Amino acid sequence: MAGRSMNIVRTVADLRAALRPYRAGGSVALVPTMGALHQGHLELARRAKADSDVVVMSIFVNPTQFNDPADLNAYPRDERADAELAASAGVDLLFMPSAAEVYPPGFSATVQLHGPLVETLEGARRGVGHFQGVTTVVSKLLGMAQPDRAYFGQKDAQQARVVRALVADLNIATQIVTVPTVREADGLAMSSRNRRLNPQDRERAAAVSAALRAAVAAVEAGERKATAVLRAAADVLAGRGIEPEYLALVDAETFGPVSTLRTDPAILAVAADIGGTRLIDNTPIQPPAPAQS
Ligand code: AMP
Repeated sequence: MAGRSMNIVRTVADLRAALRPYRAGGSVALVPTMGALHQGHLELARRAKADSDVVVMSIFVNPTQFNDPADLNAYPRDERADAELAASAGVDLLFMPSAAEVYPPGFSATVQLHGPLVETLEGARRGVGHFQGVTTVVSKLLGMAQPDRAYFGQKDAQQARVVRALVADLNIATQIVTVPTVREADGLAMSSRNRRLNPQDRERAAAVSAALRAAVAAVEAGERKATAVLRAAADVLAGRGIEPEYLALVDAETFGPVSTLRTDPAILAVAADIGGTRLIDNTPIQPPAPAQS
């Protein structure tokens, strides 16, 4: 399909029919999104395009993963702009199903992981229903497109880790690829929600990523204690009057708390409400191995 124009499909039957010619020899990539596309989403699509013969991007604002109806209602939607942006990033098939296509009458399945990975951070703040909504819809999207690879952003680090656990637990034959976070010039992680920030809050929001950078700088300066690393980040947030929902140093695999950094990869994750808009961000923390003596 490379070099040809993008097709828009809205039903699972049309998606399957469009993918059928590629099943034999070619590889299929899926980029699941909720639309209001920005350069972060497009980076996922470009990475997918580089690896695969056909790129499917799904746009579906999944009602079941929203714990707050007001957040769902306010979620930005712009189909026409999204279609242009997706085409520009090399998407071959744009899959935009209705809620009734994804959840037809009689639909009753849920896919739920259990344990600390889905109960901490986002799971704790948004409730167990959040990741249950994510794992159910991702299971369905993987079943619909049956991709060889699916692309997720490090921006939603816990979600990417949860999806890896999902495909491992259910033996789903899709490779999960995680793509680094794409940021604005001032460091703010790109997000569909950023367009809801007023100019003052947009400027203040830069402190979220600045806090993560301050923590990384503390680690690079030799700090290993979580309390001190977190303090470095919290001071930056406090300086802009931001009280985080959570600010946590966790193990990158288990998402369990880390009290002292050793050589295992960790993640510093933050969520904060800025003027009514909920933003999340994180940074990988990889302390250097101690020098051999
Ligand atoms: P969303 O539309 O917010 O559900 O995001 C769809 C996918 O894009 C998810 O895998 C996100 O992690 C990813 N994504 C969102 N923002 C960014 C970003 N700034 N950089 C990289 N990936 C992102």
